[in-house]
Amino acid sequence: MNSKEIIAKTQKYGANNYAPKEVVIIKGEGAVVYDPEGRRYYDMLSAYSALNFGHCHPEIAAAAEAQLKKVTLTSRAFHNELLCEFYERLSRLTGKEKILPMNTGAEAVETALKTARRWGAFKKGIPDGKQEIIVAGNNFHGRTITVISASTDPVARKGFGPFTPGLKVIEYGKAAALEEAITENTVAFLVEPIQGEAGIIVPPEGYLTKVREICTRHNVLMMADEVQTGFARTGKMFACDHEGVVPDVYVLGKALGGGIMPVSAIAADSDIMDVFEPGSHGSTFGGNPLAAAVSVKAMEILERDDYPRLAREKGEYFMRGLKKIRCKDIVDIRGKGLLVGVEFSQNAEKYVKKLIGGGVLAKETHEKTVRFAPPLIITYKQLDEALNIISEALSD
Ligand SMILES: *Cc1c(COP(=O)(O)O)cnc(C)c1O
Repeated sequence: MNSKEIIAKTQKYGANNYAPKEVVIIKGEGAVVYDPEGRRYYDMLSAYSALNFGHCHPEIAAAAEAQLKKVTLTSRAFHNELLCEFYERLSRLTGKEKILPMNTGAEAVETALKTARRWGAFKKGIPDGKQEIIVAGNNFHGRTITVISASTDPVARKGFGPFTPGLKVIEYGKAAALEEAITENTVAFLVEPIQGEAGIIVPPEGYLTKVREICTRHNVLMMADEVQTGFARTGKMFACDHEGVVPDVYVLGKALGGGIMPVSAIAADSDIMDVFEPGSHGSTFGGNPLAAAVSVKAMEILERDDYPRLAREKGEYFMRGLKKIRCKDIVDIRGKGLLVGVEFSQNAEKYVKKLIGGGVLAKETHEKTVRFAPPLIITYKQLDEALNIISEALSD
């Protein structure tokens, strides 16, 4: 089938909950993908940072292939030999004592919310049913009913009520708003260290430090949703590391699956994680040996090849290139590492069209901002080529 036929068939049978760009990807290698007509593109979206390792990373693919021939699913009714390795690696990476594995980011967020509520009831002595969790405006934490109950995006919420109670929204980037919102029933603050879907919103310097301090002082859990920012994307292993801040709970996903499997998890110390007893939470596929094998290999590569440094250095290089572009509609270029947002004074759709036409895959987020987040393994030569295309597409 050609691209047109594939798109037509997709639209015929699929629910209409996405509006993909008119590009069909049939093959991917590192930072490059191909369509059925043989057109070559740079993938500058990386599946929203799930592809930090690039497409079909040979070592991760080999780990998956080897595990495919051994055992792929045991359920948690039995042990498997990979889950312990996954736990150990992720525990080391996060510095947290305990890991709880799930599959998607939204599930990890749900898990964090459940953890916070139980911790509030069991450890903080808040009557069950009274726990409050604070979230930030313009957040993106996923798509389940509870998670969208925390959303301020009308498109994500419309028609999906009733919503989960016990959530309070405050302004992002303002530590004072957190202090004001905390009550005796507050159990946690869930926050993205950089807001990805909101348009690569980098909070003011010192925000996370103040959040940490306020949470500690009020005995409230700081839960960092690093699903998009984690695993080196922003030039540090976790985006909280930019301020040397350690949250009580890390919420992780996307790149944790090495671009091959959906793998998510929360990481926290024992005094928090021990609120769970057998039967209180779980997932049939969470921690399955195939996912664990892929993830263990991905984490091994992440540390071995110093991905945070790759993202930091390439991010600076890329940012310098972007800042040379002269375009009257660009109002801001911001980000950290290889998570970069270019904000336009108007809807960015026409620029995205030009980028794709030139061979760079990107997508606007919140209409006016284009996110550039290539795989961290992109080479400097490829970055130069991509920058040429971007410059061509955006220049006046
Ligand atoms: C993508 C994302 C999620 C949700 O992950 P899914 O795997 O799509 O459920 C949660 N939080 C953040 C910050 C994300 O970027």
